[in-house]
Amino acid sequence: DDRHVRLYTEFLPDRQGILFVFRERTIEVNHAKKEQNFISVLSHELRTPLASIEGFSELMLHRTLSPSKQRKYLETVRSETQRLSQLLTEFLDYQRLSHQKESYHLVSFCIERMLIELTEWLNVSTSTHHLQIQTDGPCLITADQEKIRRVLLNILNNAIKYSPVDSNIQVSLACCESEIVITISDDGYGIPTQDLPYLFDPYYRVEQADHLQVQGTGLGLPICKEIIEAHGGRITVHSEIGKGSDFFIRLPRDEEWNTTNNMYKNSM
Ligand code: ADP
Repeated sequence: DDRHVRLYTEFLPDRQGILFVFRERTIEVNHAKKEQNFISVLSHELRTPLASIEGFSELMLHRTLSPSKQRKYLETVRSETQRLSQLLTEFLDYQRLSHQKESYHLVSFCIERMLIELTEWLNVSTSTHHLQIQTDGPCLITADQEKIRRVLLNILNNAIKYSPVDSNIQVSLACCESEIVITISDDGYGIPTQDLPYLFDPYYRVEQADHLQVQGTGLGLPICKEIIEAHGGRITVHSEIGKGSDFFIRLPRDEEWNTTNNMYKNSM
């Protein structure tokens, strides 16, 4: 029905039945989740992977299966275990960040260099998309390097996940008077207008087939928002369905930039 999306259908050997695994999918559930206490949300999210791990291991224990079926079921168990582990890690990270229990190690560093390194690395490691970068030049910000790298990687990985193979991803850096603006644009599936206000809410995922086919937790963007806002910055999105999405990250720029600019350039 329209409250559930079917994840797997397995025909059991010897006509012994069919195994369905469903995920609950109503938008109302997503909104209600905001109000719920996080432990109950977590248990809701854990139920689907746990149910399929239990279902497929029961099958393997109690049925005689061909090696290829066995392998297929084991692969499902492995990918659901990975999903559980990612859910738990992201859940705990989000809890720490949203309760301001996370410590930030602030240093002054060149955001242009980080963007160039990430773009080059993703071009080599994924090779499915074409990442291009355009910048105003070297620019210093004071921030937690690891956390900013995590935000950028998450937005870049989303651009890859939610756009077709072989498409372009454009990264740009503008260094303005008091802030820097990073824009990450893709030519992907885009996001329906009615989903945009909820996109940074925990566990929110766009309820469309092309989005739901992609593995995700709905915690990546809330984590990014917590990190960027903790640095006094802002993260926003503009998107058109079928055309693509632009994510904008604004962060305060180092005030002493003008005085250190020449020194920094000389040291590069
Ligand atoms: P997920 O783990 O589901 O990717 P996120 O919090 O990172 O979680 O993103 C939330 C939802 O926002 C995604 O499930 C997807 O529907 C949508 N989304 C995020 N980035 C993009 C993008 N670049 N293009 C289209 N949709 C996106």
